Amino acid sequence: MKQIRPYSELKDQFGRCVQSAYFPDFDVYLLCMDDVKQEASGKRYHLVWKSRLAFSDKKKSFHVEYAGGSKKDLSLIFHDVCHQLEYETHEFLDRVISADIQKDQVYKWEQGFLIGWDTKLRLGQARKVARQIAEEYNMEPPTIHHDPHNVDEEGNTISHFDSTNNRVVLCSLESHMVLHEMSHAVVSNGNFGDLIYVTHGPRFVWQVIELYSRYGGIPLDYLVSTASEHHLLGDLAYNRVISPKSIARTLPHIS
Ligand SMILES: [Zn+2]
Repeated sequence: MKQIRPYSELKDQFGRCVQSAYFPDFDVYLLCMDDVKQEASGKRYHLVWKSRLAFSDKKKSFHVEYAGGSKKDLSLIFHDVCHQLEYETHEFLDRVISADIQKDQVYKWEQGFLIGWDTKLRLGQARKVARQIAEEYNMEPPTIHHDPHNVDEEGNTISHFDSTNNRVVLCSLESHMVLHEMSHAVVSNGNFGDLIYVTHGPRFVWQVIELYSRYGGIPLDYLVSTASEHHLLGDLAYNRVISPKSIARTLPHIS
């Protein structure tokens, strides 16, 4: 059976996909599209960004990086983008990061398994767990504060991690809250010191699974299978490409 790619809906507009990369940090594809029908217009080749998950506003979920008549240009720009991606200033990636598309799904997934595993901590215990994690991941431990009245812009009570001053605010002291916010801190700290964004994408989900398993006593296979059922793990069909900056993964296309 032919597998339907998550971006197959772009086919009508841009034709056949001849090469693609997947960026797990952002949960987006970069696609080289070849549409012979557009030969006459001089825009046969397109390089298109597409998020794996649909935005609430569908029109925003893709972005054309290049459109032209040269296959060589297409392939040069594709490789340039993969290896020298400046995600901090990239319009589309900024849109993806701000949308934080799978946030609600992550919360739903956590609510599904945490009851039964969760324990109430004292502030001192929460700080101890945070210190242990920071030590293990070789990072500066964030300061941990308890504020039951911490609210977001809409007035909902929330816990949050603030990467600018390395600070975690917990609205309640359940063990999962500490592990969830510490996962944001670990991701933000990054392997290369350059991962400054904080979303609930696949990279975060893999990280929180690691912490729930190591510090929360929840079985790893259970976490992975339930996260997979909720489609939170990104596109696992892609192989990693050695590229310290972009962390891109590419998949050759046969058809
Ligand atoms: Zn979060």
